Amino acid sequence: MLNPLDKIKTQVKRLSAYTLNAPECRVKINQNENPYDMPEEIKQEVMKRLANRPWSRYPTFVPVDLLVTMAKFSSWRADGILAGNGSNELIQALLTVTVGQGTKVLISEPTFTLYRLLIEILGGEVISVPLKSNLQYDTDLIKQTAKEKEVDLVIICSPNNPTGCVIKDSDLIDLLKDFSGLVILDEAYHEFSKHSVVPLLKQFSNLIVLRTFSKAMAMAGLRVGYLLSHPDLAKEIAKAKLPYNLNFFSLTAAIVTMENFHLLSPIIDKIIAERERVFVALSKIPGLEPINSQANFILTKTSIKPSDLMARLQTKDILARDVSRYPMLNDYVRFSIGTEEENNELLETLKQTFS
Ligand code: PMP
Repeated sequence: MLNPLDKIKTQVKRLSAYTLNAPECRVKINQNENPYDMPEEIKQEVMKRLANRPWSRYPTFVPVDLLVTMAKFSSWRADGILAGNGSNELIQALLTVTVGQGTKVLISEPTFTLYRLLIEILGGEVISVPLKSNLQYDTDLIKQTAKEKEVDLVIICSPNNPTGCVIKDSDLIDLLKDFSGLVILDEAYHEFSKHSVVPLLKQFSNLIVLRTFSKAMAMAGLRVGYLLSHPDLAKEIAKAKLPYNLNFFSLTAAIVTMENFHLLSPIIDKIIAERERVFVALSKIPGLEPINSQANFILTKTSIKPSDLMARLQTKDILARDVSRYPMLNDYVRFSIGTEEENNELLETLKQTFS
């Protein structure tokens, strides 16, 4: 008897799917979204442009207006930029053109779980370098392992999800300098660290940078991300991207948002200030140990079992993230930074829980 599952790759059947178990809660601090929503002025301008455009027509084949605006916004060249339906899609396209059976990809775990999943689906070998015990990047070990194991790719997430740690430019430069492979730097949360590695693209043709509109840019619901690299690399990666991957609603919203970034900037500053305030408040709660973060979330060690703490928060209609299944993070939860009121509610509930 034919079993249709026999035709699925063995390495795929071994994997667990990327899932999110997320009950509806009033205070939603589980996905590192921007809690303040898009300013109304930007929404109105997007609606106006959409109303004036025929919906029956495809978007233009290459979204030149979007790429040119992204180039100006990021100070990189338009022919070295690809736009995607979320940066997830570009991670997939990039790995599709680089990873095959046995390709060695170094990642430093715990990190964003999608990297490992896609590498394994494609038949690549994950070379995992653990973070240091203080949950910071072990850049010496990364450099040494990259060389010794002759890895093809290194993926670094900075600021890292879910720890919030960053790699220093000087360490990244050292890695890029004597390495014959590609280095992918996912800076999905860079706005919250007020730093970007995009200026390094001029100097290093083996660097690829990923960015998203889902976090600071307040557009998670519209799915836009972009990749920045040497134009020759972008041309190759584009081959694995589906035609018309970005609908004109999302691409129009991305353009208007970049044109009006001055409206988002104070919101981002507010989130950063809230992160600092929440960090100090969390450190004062006995039983909690927050980890310093450069992103819009705080990884926190808890003396109460993470699943029990999640359940307790949910009784108060607060949804945070249990990250205890990640390597090294048995005793950890992750709180995204919410609005000032939401953060106060979280802190109040935590104070009561740990008293
Ligand atoms: N990179 C990192 C590090 C992330 O945390 C996320 C979202 N959780 C993404 C990429 C994907 O973002 P999107 O597809 O929404 O652009």
